[in-house]
Amino acid sequence: MSSILKISDLTFIYQNSKKASLQQINMDIHEGEFIGITGPTGAGKSTLALCMNGVIPHFYQGDFYGSVMVDQKDTVDNDCVALAGSIGSVFQDPEAQIVATVVEDEVAFGLENLNLPRYEMEERITTALEMTGISQLRNYSTARLSGGQKQRVAIAAAIALRPKILVLDEPTSELDPQGTLAIYETLKNLNELYGITVIIIEQKIQYLAEYCSRLVVLDKGKIAIEGPCREVLSRQDTLQGLGVNCPPVTQLAYMLKQKGLYHGEFPINVDEAYLVVSKVLQDKGRFQ
Ligand code: ADP
Repeated sequence: MSSILKISDLTFIYQNSKKASLQQINMDIHEGEFIGITGPTGAGKSTLALCMNGVIPHFYQGDFYGSVMVDQKDTVDNDCVALAGSIGSVFQDPEAQIVATVVEDEVAFGLENLNLPRYEMEERITTALEMTGISQLRNYSTARLSGGQKQRVAIAAAIALRPKILVLDEPTSELDPQGTLAIYETLKNLNELYGITVIIIEQKIQYLAEYCSRLVVLDKGKIAIEGPCREVLSRQDTLQGLGVNCPPVTQLAYMLKQKGLYHGEFPINVDEAYLVVSKVLQDKGRFQ
């Protein structure tokens, strides 16, 4: 797999701030990956997302060291418009992102600047709505949508620009479990069916465990842990020390391990946890 986003020795200090919000970050993200970024509040997650989509250094003043290469483009030399075909962004609050009163117009909004022929705009809107599973909402008023539907409209608007990468900063923080799941299933489809690289910042680590292949944990502006999901989640002591809540299923296995009742791999979803608990009960002769 080739590298689609490469961060080398990135350090960023906001203007008027004494300390670096990001320090010596190195990341290499490959095309088609689904990556989760987590960590405590103030760890630098949002700053990292803003460095990925070029908002930093183009819209925030500060000291920027190192480099961020997005789809072979250096973010220092390419502004957000130039990067839009490579990386799309979705943020926390769906209300703040939506400007149009009708869904179709919202998805068309970013396309207006591209001077595309009418038929291509039409095709892109139709495809983006299909890809996010909201074709039926095309003529709806954006004011009537649920939070989860609004976030899917925001994702559709981002992918209508045909980016290779989607970076999402806590897109489910305002959503209930049903809305959250719909977003993750949408992202899974975009990743698996259309090969879009997904980078998601998330505090609800159980969703990262379920959907991501790789996890990066930030703390105080640095990468504290990084690796395949299961490997990162097995480092419960370190995660707890950082204030990162592990998924309940992993915590359960951790407790069973501490009591000497289980010695296998950490489960990262409910199905795997079921097998762990069945095994423990079987070993104790309580489950046939
Ligand atoms: P997270 O997303 O993990 O909560 P942030 O990237 O928002 O972390 O913040 C990282 C650090 O940068 C924090 O210490 C925060 O106070 C600081 N910071 C964030 N935005 C700004 C800003 N606009 N100006 C100055 N400091 C900021």
